[in-house]
Amino acid sequence: MYGVFGKILVIDASRKDFHIIEKDESYCRKYLGGALLCAALYEEFTGGPDKKDKPGESNKIDAFAPENPIVFATGPMAGGSVCGATRVNVLSKAPGNTGIYLSQAGGEFGPNLKRAGVDALVITGKADTPVIIDINNGNVKFADAGRFRGMDRVKVFDQLMAEKGRDYCIASIGPAGENLVRFANIMFEPDHYAGRGGLGAVLGSKNIKAVCVRGDRPVLFKDPETVKEINKKGAEKFSNTFKKAPGSFLGVLRRLGTFGLLELNRKAGNLPTRNFNFGCPDNLQSDDSPSIDQTGDFGGEAKGKTKGIEKYRHEAVEAGFAGRINPCKNCFVACKKKSKENPENSALPEYESVAILGPNIGLENDLDTCLEICELCNRLGLDTISTGNIIAWLMNCFEENIIAKDALDYEIAFGHGKKVIDLIKNIAFRKDRVGCLLADGITAAIECLGPDTKPYSRFVNGAGMPAHMPRVKPGVGFAYLHGPNPNDHMKLEHDWIASHLGSLKKFNLSITSRPGALDSAKIDAVRATQIYYAAMDTLSLCMFIFGPGNIYPFDDITRMVNAATGFDLTFDDLMKIGRRAILLQRRLFLNFGGKDADFLSYMEEEIPKGPSKGAKISKDDFYAARKHYYKISGWDENGEPTAAAVEELGLFTTPSKDDNSLKSPSTS
Ligand code: SF4
Repeated sequence: MYGVFGKILVIDASRKDFHIIEKDESYCRKYLGGALLCAALYEEFTGGPDKKDKPGESNKIDAFAPENPIVFATGPMAGGSVCGATRVNVLSKAPGNTGIYLSQAGGEFGPNLKRAGVDALVITGKADTPVIIDINNGNVKFADAGRFRGMDRVKVFDQLMAEKGRDYCIASIGPAGENLVRFANIMFEPDHYAGRGGLGAVLGSKNIKAVCVRGDRPVLFKDPETVKEINKKGAEKFSNTFKKAPGSFLGVLRRLGTFGLLELNRKAGNLPTRNFNFGCPDNLQSDDSPSIDQTGDFGGEAKGKTKGIEKYRHEAVEAGFAGRINPCKNCFVACKKKSKENPENSALPEYESVAILGPNIGLENDLDTCLEICELCNRLGLDTISTGNIIAWLMNCFEENIIAKDALDYEIAFGHGKKVIDLIKNIAFRKDRVGCLLADGITAAIECLGPDTKPYSRFVNGAGMPAHMPRVKPGVGFAYLHGPNPNDHMKLEHDWIASHLGSLKKFNLSITSRPGALDSAKIDAVRATQIYYAAMDTLSLCMFIFGPGNIYPFDDITRMVNAATGFDLTFDDLMKIGRRAILLQRRLFLNFGGKDADFLSYMEEEIPKGPSKGAKISKDDFYAARKHYYKISGWDENGEPTAAAVEELGLFTTPSKDDNSLKSPSTS
């Protein structure tokens, strides 16, 4: 086989044992890798769709139970010299959520896993004491991790690299994962994160501090020259575009990383501010956005100051904070940057982190503290999005007097940056009453502090809301409230792009929808682009490179996949793989207790000021959209995939090695 090995490494942490399971070519062609392979293996290792406690009930496996597997999978182009093919997908039952969660990261862990001779890694069981797992070309060893207990991840990474050598890649958890904080993340190398779903706590529950992997097995492509030619064409295209338009989307990514999106979203009124109640901090307002109300009162420590705002602007970030590029290997876009101040140990934070831990918690004027908080979360192993969400929720509840001051013997307000630093440490180490409460996640916190606090939560199924405003991007907001990937902004094309006829034509959709609308045309675009993204996640490709129209035409992507694998897939086959990935994850999501969220009442309130003033979502539109979405997805009125949809995608039962419904023309 080419591009894939057909081998899955299975590690039993309880027995400190491992074995390889083999998959044949038909299985590899059907499940390819990444998102879809993760879902197929998770289903296989949990007994398939029919293993429920009782018929009609969900599988009640606990996220922290030893038998809950965690799956890591790469794509068919990982390990070759392909720009953007480095993503690793991670899937498990999510501890903060009902249902499963899929999270992704860049870096070299995925390619190294592939070069170790396997397409995926499944870890089950629970070690009796903390361990480091060492995977070297498919051989596995376990070492005691007691000396790393409570250590921040940059130190863990530095020590392990010094001991093992730089040809290793490391996935590790911080103190938050060790202490089972329900929104702990997994770090890959020092600057890449599988941030969402609390999957760091799943590794923590298995007593696994780190997984180190190296390999030097060649990953063979069927037609390496064609892969190289298409990759080269992409590099030239990007280089020309960057020279002509350094201010374009990809140009901004190159210059400032995703941090640069903060300015773009601020101008559009899409920058979550003070628990998503506003779309633009008024005192971040630039002269060229006249529609904003300059008299807004945001209170807190930031009130009345204007000087710090300047630090958030492109020029200031470029001059003051953005250090050298630190890209995933072979990437010509290079969106990852180091911090200028501390290039050895810190990265320039991503847009999501700086927005949710900046303006969204009231730090509009205090970028220095915001950066300190982002770095702290990364070192302690916390998902920056969910951490910022739960703190913004608490601040908002205090502001609205929903929580009495003596209820927790604690109080915090928007803009209290120094207090946030203490709170984050207390969450990660489960210290004091508030830290312990928040560490158990939003559901437990609402249960403790009462139902009146619920309307201020922006969580969906335990995952905090990313930094794109549902009321400004209703298509994205709609997707946030639906499984299998609730509150995930990386699973579809966003409204502004998905509303252009040019983009939709590529998906055979000839109707357009206004960016701010939530109508059936918008839902058609949501569904079509979700399928595309699921296909790219299955190939484990970076969406900045492989997003629709970003660099490659669809024909080139299809050609590249076939040149790597030797398959003869059409673009429609890839879309079928995308639909299969969504359906299989949807089935897992529902079987493991996930449920689409009810409409969030705050979304019906108009944004009160700023460039997006007046934006809102109507509840009636939302439920009409849900009905249409279920229908075009092949799901029944309750959102369950219909038997016909399951059959069409060849997913009747637990995948077996005989399952071969997507044969390429050359082999059918
Ligand atoms: S664009 Fe960024 S995330 Fe994507 S592969 Fe390149 S460096 Fe990695």
